[in-house]
Amino acid sequence: MRIAHTQQVQKFPLQYYVLVKIMADETFYRILFVALCALFFSVRGYYRFVRPKRVESETEVIERKNFGMAEKVISFAIIGYFAGIILYLLNFLNIPWLILLQIPGYPELIRWVGVALALASVPLLGWIHKFLDRQYSACLQIKESHSLITEGPYSRVRHPMYTVLNMFSFGVALVTANFLVIGFALLLIPPFHFVVIKEEQMLLDTFGDEYTEYMKRTGSFFPRILKRNA
Ligand code: SAH
Repeated sequence: MRIAHTQQVQKFPLQYYVLVKIMADETFYRILFVALCALFFSVRGYYRFVRPKRVESETEVIERKNFGMAEKVISFAIIGYFAGIILYLLNFLNIPWLILLQIPGYPELIRWVGVALALASVPLLGWIHKFLDRQYSACLQIKESHSLITEGPYSRVRHPMYTVLNMFSFGVALVTANFLVIGFALLLIPPFHFVVIKEEQMLLDTFGDEYTEYMKRTGSFFPRILKRNA
């Protein structure tokens, strides 16, 4: 039985078996990746499409800004990120060259760190949406009767949603062990710095001193560790 098995193994080059093993392991992570995305986007979808219809249909937008240069970089990174994801998911077709996009010797532990980051970002996203409520928008805008939110996650951080979006996209990228997906997830992070500059200018114009005071006691993407009450 053992001899027969050995003879069979020797029929194909060793690389073939390494490839088959990588494909099989990756199937598990591909399913995990899709499940994490489904979880995150169901929360996002609820707050973006289901809830606003009930509470907000009459709200008028009184100011709108684009993301400026950052928008081009974000669009490029998002397109690259999704292209990377499609290629990663296409792996099930056993296209050998797609294996080259997988980082060799990638530690299993990093995949699970990614799972933890992505999972943690799901309740955080729900919490943030709950507090930002109808002030939320996919672009930068001020609505009629827009109020400044400084409670819940916004009591310590001014841009928790951007932090959590990046935490999720980077977390699931780590699950894939894919050069393209991780690369584009990293490229997605820096432009938010420029988005925030524009967004804060708009909020300063609208809320004046109230926002200046709010800026003093909060961190931008993470809570302030030092001088919290300064
Ligand atoms: N930058 C925030 C919100 C993203 S949604 C975050 O990362 O959590 C973008 C919209 O939120 C913008 O149109 C802006 O008008 C609004 N916004 C941002 N911070 C706000 C706050 N503290 N209170 C009310 N609205 C806010």
